[in-house]
Amino acid sequence: MLDVDQARQRILGAAHPVGVEAVELADALGRVPATRAYVAQTDVPPFANSSMDGFAVRTADLPGPLPISGEAAAGGGPATVLAPGTAVRIMTGAPLPAGADAVVPVEETEEADGAVTISGAVELGANVRGAGHDTRAGETVCLPGVLGPAAIAILASLGLATFEVRRRPRVVILATGDELVSPGQPLQPGQIYDANSFGLSAAVQEAGAEPIRLPRAADDEAALQELVVRGAGAGDLLVVSGGVSVGRRDYLRPVLERIGRLSFWRIAVQPGKPLAFGDVGGTPVIGLPGNPVSALVTFELFVRPLIRAMLGRSGDGRGHQQALLTEPMDKDPDRQAYLRVVLSRQGEDWRARPAGGQASSQLRSLAAANGLLTIPRGLARAAAGERYDAIILDPTSVEVGG
Ligand code: AMP
Ligand code: MG
Repeated sequence: MLDVDQARQRILGAAHPVGVEAVELADALGRVPATRAYVAQTDVPPFANSSMDGFAVRTADLPGPLPISGEAAAGGGPATVLAPGTAVRIMTGAPLPAGADAVVPVEETEEADGAVTISGAVELGANVRGAGHDTRAGETVCLPGVLGPAAIAILASLGLATFEVRRRPRVVILATGDELVSPGQPLQPGQIYDANSFGLSAAVQEAGAEPIRLPRAADDEAALQELVVRGAGAGDLLVVSGGVSVGRRDYLRPVLERIGRLSFWRIAVQPGKPLAFGDVGGTPVIGLPGNPVSALVTFELFVRPLIRAMLGRSGDGRGHQQALLTEPMDKDPDRQAYLRVVLSRQGEDWRARPAGGQASSQLRSLAAANGLLTIPRGLARAAAGERYDAIILDPTSVEVGG
């Protein structure tokens, strides 16, 4: 059985970065920029302007009184000229009149009979933002891994209406199982609701890709084959849930062997073990175990990094911390375990406590967890008082103590 890192390397080896597309800035939140280093084509701001409401002056004329010879407002037209020995009333963002070399804030002036007198000392260039004060044409603007509000704002300030981002990888999701029913429908005896189509779709979106849900496949080899062919043709990646194990009705392996390639189908991971990887017509196909916790945890370990690689990004995009386990937990000695825990911290001291039952069918503990504690292969249990690596699934819900 492959261990987790070997399997991940094999899967990442199949990653091809997706192409780029231009999106409107209004739609750019969360998208991966095609470049992290954008070279500005214009100065921001494009002209010298005032950073205060006050008076534009020549410092050599101070302290006055200076007759007020005009007014400059933001958006009120091009820069005027400051007649020597006078002041121009100026608003924040208005172009600095030619000849002015400073702006005196209104709070530091006194006005009487149409003239203004300046109380304190004024430095040359005070309260003036030169052209390119934020960014000069030719300078590099560093962008984050995904576009957020500040990055989108600076691209807008540079005059860009659209920006090139990575296309969202299309990830086709195919749930298998005769027992599955869509939520909202009545259950017949022996049926359960399909959790994986929805959990995996959400995980695909969280990873920055676009989910495409296929109709569920019955536990029938021909039906599964047809949907696998269709799914592989419809996206950049096909994720199948269920039907990868050794049950008599687990057909994904024979189907992959027949119409594509099977690279491996077992990994020493808990929860997880049966996990099929291969391709159909060059489209990678990952078969995840049907148990909902196994499906989501193996998605986290294998599919999420693959989607990130398709987006030109590396790693899993999660924080990692050594955390001290507060209670002992059992695990399978032959597999690397990912235990569902609630992480908390006091200063730099991170703790992990069990989030509930750890069976691969117990989704409730995964929903309650904010981390996965990694316990290496070879260990028969995770010991209380020991520190293990934790994957932080949700940093916003880490409890912080005083
Ligand atoms: P399988 O991998 O198909 O053998 O399924 C393993 C277990 O997971 C069985 O108990 C299935 O009923 C359950 N299961 C499979 N697919 C889903 C799903 N989409 N939603 C909820 N449970 C599922
Ligand atoms: Mg099944």
